[in-house]
Amino acid sequence: MDLTFSTEERAFESEVRAFIAQHLTPEMKRAQALTPSVFSEPDVVVSWQKALHEKGWAAPGWPTEYGGTGWTPAQRWIFEAECARAGVPTLSPMGVKMVGPVIIGFGTPAQKNYYLPRILSGEDYWCQGYSEPGSGSDLASLKTRAVRNGDHYIVNGTKIWTTHAHYANRMFALVRTNETPRQQDGISFILIDMKSPGITIRPILTIGGDHEVNQVFFDDVRVPVTDRVGEEGKGWTYGKYLLEFERGSGIASAKLREALKTVLDLAESDATGRAIDDPDIAIRMSEIEVDIDTLEMTELRVLSALQTGQNPGAVSSLLKLRVSEIRQAVTRLGVEVIGNDGLAVEPMRPFYKLNQTPAIPEAMLPVVPEYLNGRAYTIFGGSSEIQRDIVAKMVLGL
Ligand SMILES: Cc1cc2nc3c(=O)[nH]c(=O)nc-3n(C[C@H](O)[C@H](O)[C@H](O)COP(=O)(O)OP(=O)(O)OC[C@H]3O[C@@H](n4cnc5c(N)ncnc54)[C@H](O)[C@@H]3O)c2cc1C
Repeated sequence: MDLTFSTEERAFESEVRAFIAQHLTPEMKRAQALTPSVFSEPDVVVSWQKALHEKGWAAPGWPTEYGGTGWTPAQRWIFEAECARAGVPTLSPMGVKMVGPVIIGFGTPAQKNYYLPRILSGEDYWCQGYSEPGSGSDLASLKTRAVRNGDHYIVNGTKIWTTHAHYANRMFALVRTNETPRQQDGISFILIDMKSPGITIRPILTIGGDHEVNQVFFDDVRVPVTDRVGEEGKGWTYGKYLLEFERGSGIASAKLREALKTVLDLAESDATGRAIDDPDIAIRMSEIEVDIDTLEMTELRVLSALQTGQNPGAVSSLLKLRVSEIRQAVTRLGVEVIGNDGLAVEPMRPFYKLNQTPAIPEAMLPVVPEYLNGRAYTIFGGSSEIQRDIVAKMVLGL
């Protein structure tokens, strides 16, 4: 694995930096820094997405014929690292990184022509309808029914923990179209218009005080059969394909390094009484830095494999596991660094629209909400226990 960048790659790095300098406004950067949840609110990302789209950089991982960039893994690495360093808004992966690859891989020409450009432009905002009450880790037991009625499916049931369903105009969902001896064989992958009659969205406020997730109810919702992706009863295969991208397609180490730097800045500031002088905090900081270094090496290894056209496969579970644990370690250290100031709870959201002076320095505002929000890292996208099972079976061959 050659880790040095070529002259062309260095030139690309300069191009990325210039692009970011031109399009990332101080308002966007501040909003991102003050967002404790995983993805930025759509109003923060909209102009960033537009700029990426105009430049042709909206979907680095897609084949060029569908609007991808044709970047090498090294260029993708450079792009992600520069974005993390600059603090650009975090785009929801549901469109570009999740449903996009499934439509490209298994969709009809009509689905590709209709949906892919709308994903690139940000015109469609997607949510993921997989989990149900009682069907999370055991996803194959899902019960939301889609019964064929002429050229429509009639959908009844409920999905839960649906991130940003309250913003989304589209959902990709796994639904039961048949009762089969093997549960996985009766599942299909469909695309649902969130404005359809019969859909109700109930907000769920999480422990950090954010409205990110929802429960979505379907009451005789009509979905055209033309919005089923791939074959009826093959949804499990497509859904698993998507999860490998969800878990393994990101480059997280650069972002984690920036998050740790934010904690370091706080620890070195007078606002925290120079918490960094506390040896326990300094040691934790170094340990996490080493963890990020090793994660970075694994990510580079995966990138090298991707260069030869392989998909992330089971190593994506290993990455998901380490990324979520390191993220939690960084947010926990943040709480230790700000100490008693963490007791000043600010209920108003979003923080970047707060119109009174907060009780603690602005940079401290998201620290405790980020820590609380981060408890979910080891649950969503497949819990750590499930990832360990996959790693044991598929990577270690146990
Ligand atoms: C913030 C957040 C956002 C989310 N966003 C979405 C979304 O947008 N779309 C969506 O579809 N879902 C979403 N989810 C749901 C998420 O994928 C599920 O919560 C997750 O898969 C776990 O399922 P569960 O909650 O039903 O817990 P359960 O499956 O009931 O698990 C409970 C506990 O038992 C453990 N466990 C379960 N089975 C096993 C096993 N076989 N071996 C060992 N341990 C096991 C689990 O690890 C966990 O600790 C989100 C969840 C959260 C918290």
